[in-house]
Amino acid sequence: MANTYYTAETSFNGEFDDVEDFVLEDDDNTSRERLNQINDLMQKGNKAFRDNRLEDSITCYSKALGLKPGDPIILSNRSAAFTRISTFLKNRSAADSEYRPVNGLDPTTHAELALKDAEKAINIRSNSAKSYFLKASALILLERYADAHETLLCGLHIDPLRRSFALFSNHLQVSLRNLEAISGGSTRRIEHGKPQRTDDFDCTVCLKLLFEPITTPCGHSFCRGCLFQSMDHGNKCPMCRTVLFISPRTCSISVTLNNIIQKNFPAEYAERKSENETLSNMGVHLLPLFVMDVVLPCQKLSLNIFEPRYRLMVRRIMEGNHRMGMVVIDSATGSIADFACEVEITECEPLPDGRFYLEVEGRRRCRILRSWDQDGYRVAEVEWVQDIGPLQGTREWEDLQATTSDAADLACSLIRCAKDAARADRRSRRSAVLQAERMPGPQDPELFSFWLVNLVNLRPSERLDLLRLRDSRQRIQRGLVHLKAQEQGCSVQ
Ligand SMILES: [Zn+2]
Ligand SMILES: [Zn+2]
Repeated sequence: MANTYYTAETSFNGEFDDVEDFVLEDDDNTSRERLNQINDLMQKGNKAFRDNRLEDSITCYSKALGLKPGDPIILSNRSAAFTRISTFLKNRSAADSEYRPVNGLDPTTHAELALKDAEKAINIRSNSAKSYFLKASALILLERYADAHETLLCGLHIDPLRRSFALFSNHLQVSLRNLEAISGGSTRRIEHGKPQRTDDFDCTVCLKLLFEPITTPCGHSFCRGCLFQSMDHGNKCPMCRTVLFISPRTCSISVTLNNIIQKNFPAEYAERKSENETLSNMGVHLLPLFVMDVVLPCQKLSLNIFEPRYRLMVRRIMEGNHRMGMVVIDSATGSIADFACEVEITECEPLPDGRFYLEVEGRRRCRILRSWDQDGYRVAEVEWVQDIGPLQGTREWEDLQATTSDAADLACSLIRCAKDAARADRRSRRSAVLQAERMPGPQDPELFSFWLVNLVNLRPSERLDLLRLRDSRQRIQRGLVHLKAQEQGCSVQ
């Protein structure tokens, strides 16, 4: 067996640091032959221990325990060997561990094994100070100082005359007082050391530190966002495939787990947090895109979001500024159009099955500079676009104001007319006109022009042209032409 030679670095070399010899005495349950076997194993084990071949010693003790389970001497010797390995691993310098890595278990696991053996030994042989000493040593390695102190006091109670024991206890008391001073008087707080940053705190979906963890009924923990994303595709635990009857939307974050992570890995947690915030608050020139139809400023529409990638997008948007871009596939090129419209989600109703019902309203236009894929949906870098109008106070500006006012008057009478007609024949075919929202004032010709063109039904290519157009007057004129054509038959004064 490959063996590592351990250098003993325990600070108290006394009788407690050594192992006990096995006492060969007849007992009713064990045959003579078996006792001899155990005795051999114990002698080999103790020799290995004293030579610091600790893995060998543990192998011998474990075999002996197989022949005589629950023997307190074997248990306490094995506990001593585990303790010594744990101490060695703990005190080893970083350079050493890189140069000569020890395969297998870490110091904490060894200390836990030492603690288990010591506790079993105490249960069987409660009058042995040695077992208490071993238990206390393991607890110190586990940084459970207050428990270690209590254990030593128990041992002292059993055997107050043992000098080395008292010495050890005194030493521990001094250390405890120092630790208390540092930690502000609470030994409870230092009882459990800082957890090591192991994979245990990683989300198995994104393989990063858990962020806003949710623990499923099957006991697995995932980032809230990751669980959501996974459940967009089916209601199974991403880890064990148990069918989950939960909705991540109504599931609370595991507060304790979240606190542990936040307190122990603050830097990594902050990084995860900002990472998540960038996904929902992308900055002024980045816009997540919903590829569906041309939307114009002022336009209102309802959307049903069912595709998993858009569910994810909507969740992120709702954590941020509630805005996304709407864009059409340009039939001329077969790829997304060069112009899009930013819409604001004015209402967002999450449905129990994970879908969303949205009401959106077009806000401002943008030109898409470039776009890329992010978690299945498209994100674009955009440049905000406005009409190029005449300077305020010039004649052209006054002309545009006049055109806008005239168009507004005309539109109002058309709407009135359409409403009368609808009342007369009780059918409402001219729905866009009938549902006309409050008209924007003529002082903003661009906004007005979009309100106007939203009154008429246009083909997507025509709408895309209107989105690209940067001239309010032209847009108003085009709107009026279509409106008049659409409302033919209705008398206009
Ligand atoms: Zn995750
Ligand atoms: Zn599971």
